[in-house]
Amino acid sequence: QEGGAEGDHVAFYSQDMNQGMQERMRIESGLRHALGNGELLLHYQPKFCIDNGKIIGAEALVRWRHPVRGLVPPAEFIPLAEATGLVVQVGEWVLEAACAQAKQWKDAGLPPIRLAVNVSAREFTSALPGRVQDTLTRYGLEPSWLELEITESTLMHNIDRVIGIMDRITALGVTLSLDDFGTGYSSLSYLKRFPIDTLKIDRSFTIGIPGDANDCAIANTIISIAQQLKHKVIAEGVETVEQLAFLKNSGCDEVQGYLFSRPLEAEAFEEALRENWTPGRASRAA
Ligand code: C2E
Ligand code: MG
Ligand code: MG
Ligand code: MG
Repeated sequence: QEGGAEGDHVAFYSQDMNQGMQERMRIESGLRHALGNGELLLHYQPKFCIDNGKIIGAEALVRWRHPVRGLVPPAEFIPLAEATGLVVQVGEWVLEAACAQAKQWKDAGLPPIRLAVNVSAREFTSALPGRVQDTLTRYGLEPSWLELEITESTLMHNIDRVIGIMDRITALGVTLSLDDFGTGYSSLSYLKRFPIDTLKIDRSFTIGIPGDANDCAIANTIISIAQQLKHKVIAEGVETVEQLAFLKNSGCDEVQGYLFSRPLEAEAFEEALRENWTPGRASRAA
């Protein structure tokens, strides 16, 4: 808009867009390859009961073991996968891998936990409940092992249709939690209609506790809403003992965050679960 150099601007932008497009296409074809080539894997971040400190579940978080770039975090490919629709295939892989892992832990005699899988808005179609049911059946897994984390963006379009899908999922015995709660646009009048089990306080609020009065007020309000609506409430991104103390005092049910554990490889999570649930591990090993 400086005038005179408009042609340059156009050329600059289109070159920029071109590079962006090329980068997108590179990642997309890489991700397709990754799906077929076993380059995706899951890490598991434990979730804890705030009262007794025991592991009650885990969140499965996808990573991409890229031959050149190493371990790529989801932030670097999930948004693109969402934009292109490839997230549906990624989601199918994640559900399959999570159920296979849960089945393995179940067969190993580990105490039952709830394993949460993140589901993108694009995956939240009328095909999802059937796919979930089919996967559980194939692995012989009780639905109580599985939880789906959905974000508010899932709930923005066609609310009746979304609630219908939610109802079909919860009818299977699979629980739903509302991830990153408070960061989206879901209205409170809908919230009461959602058959959800748990509200997840987003890390962006946890981060300001206890120093930021607004974050404290928001966290308290979310906990209060959850309690009134008879939902459980979990705080994500808990990194300090001060945050933990505040959340405990405020009546939060569960916590997840680096204070307790980063997302772990399957073996490390399994170890944590054994230690957590079976006292006298040393004597057993002897
Ligand atoms: P999310 O579902 O909100 O997951 C929580 C993110 O916060 C994870 O990052 C986790 O590692 C990180 N986190 C947990 N505790 C702490 C903490 O105490 N401090 C800090 N700084 N971070 C913490 P991650 O694994 O990089 O995942 C990022 C996002 O990618 C997830 O946010 C989720 O939206 C998406 N994602 C991950 N796996 C999948 C998947 O399988 N499918 C889909 N659709 N999305 C996924
Ligand atoms: Mg999540
Ligand atoms: Mg979250
Ligand atoms: Mg979050």
